[in-house]
Amino acid sequence: MPFDLVIHGGTLIDVAAGIHAPRDLAIHRGRVVAIETHIPLTDAADVLDATDLLVVPGLVDLHVHVDWGGAELCVEPGPNDLLRGVTTMVDAGSSGANNFAGFRRSVIEPFPGTILAFLNIAVMGQADADLGELHDIRYAKVDRAIEVARANPDLIVGLKVRVSEQLAGANGVEAVRRAREAGIELGRPVMVHIGGSTAPIEAILELLGPGDIVTHAYTGWEPGMVDTIGQVVPAAREARARGVLFDVGHGRGSFAFGKAEAALADGFRPDTISTDLHRFNVPMPVVDLTTTMSKFLYLGLPIEDVIGMTTAAPAAAIGLTGARGTLGVGVTADVTVLRREQGSFLLQDSYGATVTAPERLVAAATFLAGRRVA
Ligand SMILES: [Zn+2]
Repeated sequence: MPFDLVIHGGTLIDVAAGIHAPRDLAIHRGRVVAIETHIPLTDAADVLDATDLLVVPGLVDLHVHVDWGGAELCVEPGPNDLLRGVTTMVDAGSSGANNFAGFRRSVIEPFPGTILAFLNIAVMGQADADLGELHDIRYAKVDRAIEVARANPDLIVGLKVRVSEQLAGANGVEAVRRAREAGIELGRPVMVHIGGSTAPIEAILELLGPGDIVTHAYTGWEPGMVDTIGQVVPAAREARARGVLFDVGHGRGSFAFGKAEAALADGFRPDTISTDLHRFNVPMPVVDLTTTMSKFLYLGLPIEDVIGMTTAAPAAAIGLTGARGTLGVGVTADVTVLRREQGSFLLQDSYGATVTAPERLVAAATFLAGRRVA
């Protein structure tokens, strides 16, 4: 048989390749080997009937916490991500320079899916969920972050820093400055967690450059990028204009329907949709990435854009354009099959607000290098 598997009869959405059309997809020895309008099923050892389903690149969640056993807020990777359509996830600063080695050996290496990481600028990462990591700015060690990132170039895709007063006191701006210093030295982006800082949002955004990422774009904690009267602050538009990316990072306290509606009405869409999945938001209100995606369908974004924001865009944000988030011939066959369910679905934000959505996305099947895992 020329093909191990043909995913037949589905609608392929591959934003990186500019495809949104009925396509059959053939996989052999873990790679995509053909994408055609019709592939003869007699050529396939196995067939998945994807009629009425969407076939998309394996989903990429740009913001999760999976350093299980290493940081208090982390979940074990698998049940809430890989088994629900996410084949590549990026841990957002759960670990820092002093504990990344344990994360690597005990969690990342044994895990079948792809886990990458933003290294926290604080050496212990997000070890405690309440006390934070930057009340003593001495923990933000630029040299150590650079050293550990250079020792793990296959896994560390950037730096992470959180600026909320609860987590950083009044050190937020200095911590961002240090993360940015390390990021520039490494040629890697910095992901900044906004909301609840003592410094104005402008003082944080002005430190960021092209490729850096603001996460919690629609936080309800002031100061965010949507002001108290529902308008996107000029500094956010200026940041976007110079190439700063805006990520959702839903989380337990960082996604407000009202802020998202206001920003979208003001023409400010996210670049990437991510969950900020951790143990305090599973099962509610985050649940998983497809639930977070469903919230943006509810808010009016086209399906193609929602898919792009969870495939091609996050892959590009971590320098993996062409390798992840797309299904071109020759790439590793990480594939997610999605179902659009019609009905009446209650969706909740981080502040208890709920909406009733007429449809939602669920993962119907997930393939990792051509092997079905869910
Ligand atoms: Zn987070």
